[in-house]
Amino acid sequence: MSEASAWGEPVGFVGIGNMGAPMAARLLDAGHSLVVFDVSSKATAPLIARGARQAGSAAEVASLAETVLTSLPTPDIVESVALGERGVGAGSRIKRLIELSTSGPRIAARVAQGLAAKGVTLVDSPVSGGVAGARAGTLAVMVACPRAEFDRLQPLLKVIGKPFYVGERPGLGQTMKLVNNLLSGAALAITSEAMLLGTKAGLDPDTMIEVINAGSGRNSASQDKFPKSILPRRFDAGFATRLMLKDLKLCLEEAESLGLTLWVASAVRQLWLKTFNEIGPNEDFTTIMRCVEGSTGVEVRGRAAGSSRG
Ligand code: NAD
Repeated sequence: MSEASAWGEPVGFVGIGNMGAPMAARLLDAGHSLVVFDVSSKATAPLIARGARQAGSAAEVASLAETVLTSLPTPDIVESVALGERGVGAGSRIKRLIELSTSGPRIAARVAQGLAAKGVTLVDSPVSGGVAGARAGTLAVMVACPRAEFDRLQPLLKVIGKPFYVGERPGLGQTMKLVNNLLSGAALAITSEAMLLGTKAGLDPDTMIEVINAGSGRNSASQDKFPKSILPRRFDAGFATRLMLKDLKLCLEEAESLGLTLWVASAVRQLWLKTFNEIGPNEDFTTIMRCVEGSTGVEVRGRAAGSSRG
């Protein structure tokens, strides 16, 4: 019997966006039968075409599946999809919600409490690794829930990535994710400034990235976002600026609630806010490079982008 058929029942998935779509597709590929819901029917169409069942609400998904995964954009939406009138908590079959979004530890605690009252366990499981990681099934999955639940879910979680058990208390997965994204957001911000400086001074952007990646300045932006998205001026990493700004806001709220002052994180957030306002909330987060270039007249353009400006 395959791991998928051992489940013997459909798995639910709510929120078929940039991340949800490839994760849900991998579950189908692994042989799971899926029941899906998204407020956009355009989002679910490719999965329906592959045999997934369309539900009319999150509650309906949770009336058809014991295990439901969610990948949703904002903390408010996570809370309403979990606990709202037509949310998964209103489903008749659900036993566990695997919550993959980044929504912060406080929402996780509230959702866990609200669901526990209905006999449903929250598996707090934010992910990192971007759309490419979601497609390849190589996401870091940061899981907080009862240990036995984590052990039981291993085969399912391994379809989307590498599961790490970070503790029992709901919200610890979220805190782990905020720590990670603080580093990722800071790396992209500071690497954009460094690249502007070098380019304006006359260095070649492709050469700079090669040198940085062979030296001590290398980071996730220099190794991944610059070569794939920024130097070719494609700006297509698959993560919206509004989501990066949300993560930094959640991170600083968490720091404040712990009585900590994070000086560099505050400055990093300002640059993301500027990118949100000047370039646009729905633009890919790699457009922070355009924001940093601003009116300097400098463009950090690699050979892969060709010679024309734009
Ligand atoms: P997205 O905006 O592309 O997708 C969100 C999806 O949720 C959309 O399809 C939207 O229609 C749907 N949705 C919104 N409200 C809904 C509702 N009430 N009911 C059902 N569906 C609803 O976002 P994304 O990039 O896929 O990110 C999802 C989550 O994963 C976010 O919390 C994000 O911070 C996190 N995340 C994203 C990335 C990334 O690289 N994109 C990486 C790691 C974590």
